[in-house]
Amino acid sequence: METITTIPELRSRLDAERETGRGVGFVPTMGYLHAGHLSLVEAALADNPVTVVSIFVNPLQFAEGEDLGAYPRDPAADSAQCEALGVDCLFVPSAQQMYPRPVATRVEVSSVAAPLEGVLRPHHFAGVATVVAKLFSIVGPCRAYFGDKDWQQVCVVRRMVSDLSIPVEVVACPTVRESDGLAMSSRNVYLSAEERRQAPVLRAALDAGLDAISGGERNPAVVEAAMRAVVGRAELASLDYAAAVQADSLVSEGPLHGEVRLLVAARFGRARLIDNDGSLIRPVC
Ligand code: AMP
Repeated sequence: METITTIPELRSRLDAERETGRGVGFVPTMGYLHAGHLSLVEAALADNPVTVVSIFVNPLQFAEGEDLGAYPRDPAADSAQCEALGVDCLFVPSAQQMYPRPVATRVEVSSVAAPLEGVLRPHHFAGVATVVAKLFSIVGPCRAYFGDKDWQQVCVVRRMVSDLSIPVEVVACPTVRESDGLAMSSRNVYLSAEERRQAPVLRAALDAGLDAISGGERNPAVVEAAMRAVVGRAELASLDYAAAVQADSLVSEGPLHGEVRLLVAARFGRARLIDNDGSLIRPVC
């Protein structure tokens, strides 16, 4: 595995690979890799002759007072895990390399970026879209792997790629969970023992919503109330939202129909956790 820290070096390495007909798979991350990240790496390795993983904790997507300074980091373990899986290039740029001067250009996605996380973290997706656009420009034409765990992020990246005709194929991969249902996240390390015990309530809330839908419920407000009631059972959870929306627009459009996505976000102490799951409602013939 080659570890690359500068933009020109990564560009020329990947251009050379493509010139010899070797397609590139790309997994952008913020590091502190867990089995969820590694599932994306394995998918990229399986689909592409060359796989590049980036690790960059992107300051643009953190607001003042969020956890940028505290965000967990373990570069040595990340590198060892990537090497063990057979990653070809690990791209670990410094903040100076990525942003040598304050950025004057940002990518703002409206529509799918506006609801849910967009309401609670108003500048978050502009930070994400800007760094992902920059990484796509550096990596060049590729398949890029993202986790369903961050469903709204996948929607935002897909929309950006489509609107800007970026030559990248976005591949979304299933959420990897702990055995008790908690979605793996770098931020799970913030949980105290008791918060960790209660955190699977998010998975339970999604299950309650899915159960309501499979029982015939089509009113998003009723499905959302069922999800909220479950989160309410965890005394350490402070709910940000529980939403039942159309999977592609991320808003409710009358009775639930077709592809539906259930999304939850809650704070447990200093950890803010998100999770989601989907359901396909088939039209009654
Ligand atoms: P992050 O390092 O949190 O920015 O995540 C990097 C990528 O890994 C994103 O595309 C995430 O959606 C994905 N990811 C994070 N957690 C999981 C998980 N539990 N299962 C699958 N993918 C994940």
